[in-house]
Amino acid sequence: MSSSPPTAAVGFEYAPAPESRAIVDLRASYGLFINGEFVDGQGPSFKSISPATEEVLAEVSAADAADVDTAVRAARRAYNGTWSRLAPAERGKYLFRIARIIQERSRELAVLESLDNGKPIRESRDVDVPLMAAHFFYYAGWADKLAYAGYGPDPKPLGVAAQVIPWNFPLLMLAWKIAPALAAGNTVVLKPAETTPLTALLFAEVCQQADLPPGVVNIINGAGNTGRALVEHPDIDKIAFTGSTEVGRQIAISAAGTRKKLTLELGGKAANIIFDDAPIDQAVEGIVNGIFFNQGHVCCAGSRLLVQESVAEEVNSSLRRRLKTLRVGDPLDKNTDVGAINSAEQLARIRELSAIGEEEGAVRWSPPCDLPDRGFWFPPTIFTEVSPAHRIARDEIFGPVLSVLTFRTPDEAVAKANNTPYGLSAGIWSDKGSRILAIASRLRAGVVWANTFNRFDPSSPFGGYKESGYGREGGRHGLAAYLAGVEEE
Ligand code: NAD
Repeated sequence: MSSSPPTAAVGFEYAPAPESRAIVDLRASYGLFINGEFVDGQGPSFKSISPATEEVLAEVSAADAADVDTAVRAARRAYNGTWSRLAPAERGKYLFRIARIIQERSRELAVLESLDNGKPIRESRDVDVPLMAAHFFYYAGWADKLAYAGYGPDPKPLGVAAQVIPWNFPLLMLAWKIAPALAAGNTVVLKPAETTPLTALLFAEVCQQADLPPGVVNIINGAGNTGRALVEHPDIDKIAFTGSTEVGRQIAISAAGTRKKLTLELGGKAANIIFDDAPIDQAVEGIVNGIFFNQGHVCCAGSRLLVQESVAEEVNSSLRRRLKTLRVGDPLDKNTDVGAINSAEQLARIRELSAIGEEEGAVRWSPPCDLPDRGFWFPPTIFTEVSPAHRIARDEIFGPVLSVLTFRTPDEAVAKANNTPYGLSAGIWSDKGSRILAIASRLRAGVVWANTFNRFDPSSPFGGYKESGYGREGGRHGLAAYLAGVEEE
């Protein structure tokens, strides 16, 4: 990385404040976690790199089809032999124990997450890891109260769950998947994304430390073909997938006609709607949090800003002023707001879609910022004069790129917000509660935030409509996905 810290044009100069990585005990190579033990995978090994520096962090062996089968068998044995027979309160105790160990090892988990993913330590430390622990605490509490969840007097688990997650929130997505599955009495085989395998393996150590019975949680690594072998394994009862709409569609086709219960959490292109009576300064913070949090690698990111025409100029100039104060750079620096793009592939996609935005006539702007020489970086970017037909208004960019559109009337705002094949989230900024309720009820989005954005809580269900997938994770609703004979609400 360049020796001088990246600077913003406006604002204070900060001295570097790097979080030490000494707390992380990185091994040169990692394998799989099957039946309570770390074993080598028989598939080709791959390297996990730091997206901020391109430093190789570790070599990781992938699971081939035989490894996938071994993991599924281990999960089945654990399901039949121990986990489904355990008194629910005992299951809860394991989950509470895991939650407490996550808290105890939170700094280690956060540093490794930032190293492997590229996200700022401020976010992994203050958002990802605390929310991860909160999910385990929350579902630990449900383990012995399933009879009161509204799914009948004696709800039963499904069996073995295959869980495939993306790279944008490796630990948090793991918690969203594993905590409700285990609380409901299922066992799991989870595959992390190929660019961020390391923290799931650290979580495997947490499972060992908690004395979780062998086979209840299994973690296998590898790319798409490992994921496919897992979800297509015949002895799977449940598939929980978070990732792209394209892969979700393939999985839905392969699972059709089988007994496998399926939840899909897919992409998004959320509208963040600013009405003329909104508190503008607060809204600008919400816009920034909506699209630049986690480098915009957020399925529910507020990537389409819809601003009422009469305040568009004010919002645009405040937003530009605010962007000039964002600090882009070393993810382990405690002052960093925007970290590295997770991979070279993702960077190429963001660059390509941004170039298309310019070609189609939208106006591109980024604050002056000094990007590090090595690693994968993209500056916070705003496109104005965007029309709903532009690719940057339709396609999920999954990066720190905001497309700004305007509207005149509430009806136009609703029509534009719903003009997308996705339906994951939306935001409304207005001083009037009645307007917020009226607009929210007309938006086809699974989550609608009012005068805030990107707020998550384990007790709150999350999921999409249309091409954003189906099923809900989180809250009481999230249990339905892991219980037999329960239709999802
Ligand atoms: P991706 O679909 O390429 O990969 C996701 C995971 O699926 C990875 O672990 C990958 O190895 C695996 N995979 C790839 N092909 C597979 C196959 N044929 N069968 C089984 N598994 C396969 O997505 P990505 O690029 O890693 O993640 C970004 C996408 O995830 C974005 O579209 C984003 O919106 C979405 N996402 C959605 C949510 C949500 O809750 N709705 C949350 C986070 C990310």
